Amino acid sequence: MISGNHSATLSEAPPPRVIAGEGTPESEWRNWDGLDSLPDVDLDVLIPPGSRVMFVAPHPDDEVLGMGGLMALLAQRHHRLALVAVTDGDASHRDSAKWPADRLRTERPRETLEALRRLGMHGVQLIRMHIGDGGVANAEEDLRQSLAAIIGPTDVVITTWSHDGHPDHEATGRAADHACIARGATLVEVPVWMWHWSHPGDVRVPWKRARRLVLDAPLVEAKRHAAHAFVSQLEDDPSTGRPAILPPFVLDRLLRSFEVLFV
Ligand SMILES: [Zn+2]
Repeated sequence: MISGNHSATLSEAPPPRVIAGEGTPESEWRNWDGLDSLPDVDLDVLIPPGSRVMFVAPHPDDEVLGMGGLMALLAQRHHRLALVAVTDGDASHRDSAKWPADRLRTERPRETLEALRRLGMHGVQLIRMHIGDGGVANAEEDLRQSLAAIIGPTDVVITTWSHDGHPDHEATGRAADHACIARGATLVEVPVWMWHWSHPGDVRVPWKRARRLVLDAPLVEAKRHAAHAFVSQLEDDPSTGRPAILPPFVLDRLLRSFEVLFV
């Protein structure tokens, strides 16, 4: 009986969140009516007038790929915006002669600035944490404390989902969650790599918390233009023979005409 229960528990354990291969194609997500039936987010409720919105990005490009449409929309609405860059993204091209870490460390933050410009985001408060790319979990407590020191009780903090599948995304999500609880601020999570390892109806995903933000055509175009500012992530690397970090099948999932938030 006990061993029977035990084996049942094991067989029901959810599969791990693994980012490998090309993941679930966008066509599969598009054919799922579950996404169409998600409730629309009410931005006026989610982000009360006068509150500051703080985006927390594990890597330069997550802010645009996960939440670029939302950022541009809030900039148009003249919200006070801050962007926290957790890492400088300097570990995206290991052993590369073309993109050594010190080049990435300067270039990827520059790409973010260009992307923000393309989204029409001027006057954004930019805060860099300089935590090692790939090592956010090791610095999670430091990140939590740093975030708690700058988050105010009326802030709305928007970051990557704490079960997104990428260790840096998950650690950033957890640190932001704990900092928001300590400061009484509101947390919103955004899936980025979930679209890769997950599939329509996946029970590992909190669909009940999911809200849809529909982007109009100019916003989708601005987001696409901003995503293409991340040149370092879009090109194959001849020095290592590795393909681009952001190939078309990844961009397809992230440059849709809507974004999904977990509220
Ligand atoms: Zn990332």
